[in-house]
Amino acid sequence: MAIAVAYRPGGLLAAKVQLKQVHAATTEGYAHRPGGAQALFMAEVAELERDHHLKLTVAAWHDFKAGRMPSGPGAPTLIAAFEHIDAELAATPAGPAQVLTAEQQLINLLRPHAKRLYVGVANYCWFRDPAKALCLRLAGVTIGPNSKPLIGMCDAARCPQATHHMEHRSVWLSGAESSPRLLTVLPRSQRDARTRVQEDADRSQRVVDAIDFAIAG
Ligand code: SF4
Repeated sequence: MAIAVAYRPGGLLAAKVQLKQVHAATTEGYAHRPGGAQALFMAEVAELERDHHLKLTVAAWHDFKAGRMPSGPGAPTLIAAFEHIDAELAATPAGPAQVLTAEQQLINLLRPHAKRLYVGVANYCWFRDPAKALCLRLAGVTIGPNSKPLIGMCDAARCPQATHHMEHRSVWLSGAESSPRLLTVLPRSQRDARTRVQEDADRSQRVVDAIDFAIAG
């Protein structure tokens, strides 16, 4: 019945109402028309994500210009990329008529970097080279040109594509502060576990210190 109704003009919505389904995607499934609203929804999500990544990249750029540098293993590469962009912008003749053009030029130069950005809980991943992705190497998956980062397995303190910014500080700080509390309840007999917790705490504190140092310029 879903198919019969859904294939009439405006029928998909009619079928949704008639079948009392909450989501159009469910009706699409019944009507053997997957991909309609779902595809549109996914396209909208991807576009919002692109906009968000561009905003984050622009914010990182403005931080760089203000002397608030990124930290983390990927910071030298990101700083070098921003310095390159800075030099390109400086080569453009300035003038009142150039204001809009300069802003657009900046966006154009930052967009390729924004496209490579993946947002982790405690870091940004500038996914330039799948072969350098520590998460993929640790997962032991086949790495190819279309590989995507496994952000859930991110080792941001060691991967050369990871950077840390001010907004990540609280995450690392909470790790640095909670690990010592855990040590107070871990029995001394669990030596390996205590060593791992202590290493986590030390690593988190190192990242916090590096963020503070880089932000201070
Ligand atoms: S380990 Fe993290 S930063 Fe490195 S590629 Fe994977 S997700 Fe990106």
